Amino acid sequence: MEVPGKEALLWRPVSGDRIKCTACARYCQIGEGQVGLCGVRGVVNGRLYLFVYGRVAASHVDPIEKKPVTHFMPGTKIFSIATTGCNWLCQYCQNFDISQRRKVEGVHVTPEELVRAAKRYGSHGIAYTYNEPTIFMEFARDVGVEARRAGLINVFVTNGYWTPDSVSMANEFLDAATVDFKGSGEVNFVRRYIGIPNVEPIFQTLLELKQRTRIHIEITDLIVPEIGDDLNAARRLCRWVCDNLGPETPVHFLRFHPDYKLMHLPWTPVTTLERHYEIAKQEGLQYVYIGNVPGHKYESTYCPGCSSVVVRRYGFSILEWNLTDENRCSTCGNRIPIVGRPPLIPRVTRSAT
Ligand code: SF4
Repeated sequence: MEVPGKEALLWRPVSGDRIKCTACARYCQIGEGQVGLCGVRGVVNGRLYLFVYGRVAASHVDPIEKKPVTHFMPGTKIFSIATTGCNWLCQYCQNFDISQRRKVEGVHVTPEELVRAAKRYGSHGIAYTYNEPTIFMEFARDVGVEARRAGLINVFVTNGYWTPDSVSMANEFLDAATVDFKGSGEVNFVRRYIGIPNVEPIFQTLLELKQRTRIHIEITDLIVPEIGDDLNAARRLCRWVCDNLGPETPVHFLRFHPDYKLMHLPWTPVTTLERHYEIAKQEGLQYVYIGNVPGHKYESTYCPGCSSVVVRRYGFSILEWNLTDENRCSTCGNRIPIVGRPPLIPRVTRSAT
């Protein structure tokens, strides 16, 4: 019988003929003929297979700002791909039709074909997104290595529920990761609405990314009204990010919209997001954003030195670029930690003196 996909690399045998998957912090122990919780990794003939290797269930070209990533290669286009399956069970998932599908589906495509497609669409990189990319890490690695060879960047949109083995593999090809908290990682919220016991592995992953790699990190936090909008949890998260990743780490508070099993909840009130923004600033974070509220003033980047708008945005578009060639504030000269410049700069007001 031909096994779909490809033999995985992130696993080890454990006692009693079982295999432990080390791709994500679930560490599923899987017996012969069974699959892990994500539904796409399973044991055949005593080996662990990634069944969705070479199967893409969704693809789209997005601005990098949509990930959201605002401090790395701004204004670039990213070819975004996903497989089926996920290691989280989020009850509000807007991509539930692929992430919660436990079937191996999608078009057959090789890493080389994906990279050629990304270039054909004029993309500057590839994003692994819509479902959790760690579950298809070996496929992402092969695509990512090929993409780098072709001069493209690689970006993960991830829940950060990784393992040290995943961090090591990601370090072979990954340039940036936006790590998505939900409900600020408050423990009752993540247990009830995501199905994980705690967020400790995410903090571990972030520390490893920071200490062992040069992968650019941004943090997002989906604020879910009534059930995942605890201000104390947000304060704890912001303090941790500031202390451990640094005050220059971009943090995005995202507006929830009703989806999947949480259709009865309202959209997050903008005032709630603004309270989270204020708390993040109080905790010392310098680059805080509000997302999914097009036209909000906190979509833009402000200089911590003089409070000028250094990058003005609307939605995922850059309207003004008020930075020098070295990405310094063009009003006061303060260095702004943004890697790269937009391919098409909309407007540069003046140079720093
Ligand atoms: S990647 Fe899938 S199989 Fe592996 S530990 Fe995570 S949920 Fe389990």
